[in-house]
Amino acid sequence: MTVTPMPSLSSLTLTQMKAGLERGEFSSRDLVQAALDAIARLDPSLHAFLQVDGDRALAEAAKADQLPIANYQLHGIPIAVKDVLTVEGMPCTAGSKILEGFIPPYTATSVKKLQEAGAIVIGKTNTDEFAMGSSTENSAYGRTMNPWELSRVPGGSSGGSAAAVVARLVPAALGTDTGGSVRQPASFCGITGLKTTYGRVSRYGLIAFGSSLDTVGVLAQNAEDAALIFSVMAGHDPLDATSADSSVPSIDLTRRPERSGAKSKGDLQGLRVGVPKEYFIEGMQAEVQEKTRQAIEQMKSLGAEIIEVSLPHTEYALPVYYILAPAEASANLARFDGVRYGPRSEADSMWDVFFKTRGEKFGEEATRRIMIGTYALSAGYYDAYYGQAQKARTLIARDFDAAFSNVDVIAAPTTPTTAFVAGAHADDPLAMYLEDVFTLPANLAGIPGISFPVGFDSQGLPIGMQLLGPRFREDVILRAAHAYQQVTDWHICTPKL
Ligand code: GLN
Repeated sequence: MTVTPMPSLSSLTLTQMKAGLERGEFSSRDLVQAALDAIARLDPSLHAFLQVDGDRALAEAAKADQLPIANYQLHGIPIAVKDVLTVEGMPCTAGSKILEGFIPPYTATSVKKLQEAGAIVIGKTNTDEFAMGSSTENSAYGRTMNPWELSRVPGGSSGGSAAAVVARLVPAALGTDTGGSVRQPASFCGITGLKTTYGRVSRYGLIAFGSSLDTVGVLAQNAEDAALIFSVMAGHDPLDATSADSSVPSIDLTRRPERSGAKSKGDLQGLRVGVPKEYFIEGMQAEVQEKTRQAIEQMKSLGAEIIEVSLPHTEYALPVYYILAPAEASANLARFDGVRYGPRSEADSMWDVFFKTRGEKFGEEATRRIMIGTYALSAGYYDAYYGQAQKARTLIARDFDAAFSNVDVIAAPTTPTTAFVAGAHADDPLAMYLEDVFTLPANLAGIPGISFPVGFDSQGLPIGMQLLGPRFREDVILRAAHAYQQVTDWHICTPKL
């Protein structure tokens, strides 16, 4: 847990890059070149990226350097994008062989908004196949290493984005969170990860996994940078029928998290923080509990009021999610048949082309989810599994509604353990699913969450804590995380690379 000063421009925060560009200290070309150099030096051992398009990024940077800076929020700043979001003209695989060679003809709205604000997409980051996983080991293109210890996983499924940010290859990267895939890798890599409210950011151009759960989020060095990316990419999109029509507040991080009128830096006066007893359970790593509790104490010393809350249906989240997500996935993945996208396995009949392509190109986990999902949705089982799970989902969402009538945010560990060793769950999908126990409920309820580092375990691996907020209150959790980061240094610690 050493704070290694890395002199490269690529280690600056997004906010620092913005300020430096504005002052003319460096150009966008310098920033893009620094990112490309860092990638060339470090990515061979990390494998955070599936694609890097240096020529395109440098050309865009050269163009940015000709434009007036003041007009654009993210002017000339390099970012990375998880390979489940489309960028026109850049290959998009979703970590799957079934999309090998697919070049999307359009750009995801979330990415497009960042580009319109001046951001430069430098490449696509590694992901578990179709974002199914918690370790990035399910990528058909090989796993990503955790920069803190290469034998460990960076978390998943947005593991490539998390590794790229903590290794300071890019200041921020987009991820997606269907059951924890932004928060969990943020926690395993010691960075800040924002999961947005369902419907807050357009899903147009996001390769669908579980359509009622999928959200686009951001991985960044700190809450301030995450807030900037969030405020640019959020908002209604006519191209996504589930995107919400609510307005996006401009986020003023200097305001007190809940009530207005800032007094001092890091002030949490008046914030009611709920601590759910169901998230501190036997069997979890003791150090994770301990550091989370210490962080909650620190929030208290900043003026927050700590209140015990109960989310009594938490124990159902895991089985509910692992019925609903595969059910939705089985429907969403039906479109990959060797005809519409990607490679095709040749066979004599149309049906055989479908069977062969799907049989050969989907990986083990995607196949497992398709089978579970198809089973749960089949006539005769639908009521017993899918219908039941939907009802339990409602109870989980109501738990949060009830809790948020008394508190402004809920504080809990992000994961039960720190980053595990690669291969540890290779033969045990259930053990892998258990890693998601604390992140899934927020997706089932559609609420936002932010994970940020609160310490290290005895092995030097980062520990993360999450703050969950009511629907559409990203502003509250961002301000609270920012206040914590004003008085702590965990978020500036980087691995020795
Ligand atoms: N780990 C969870 C899963 O495998 C969540 C994945 C995600 O959020 N994309 O389904």
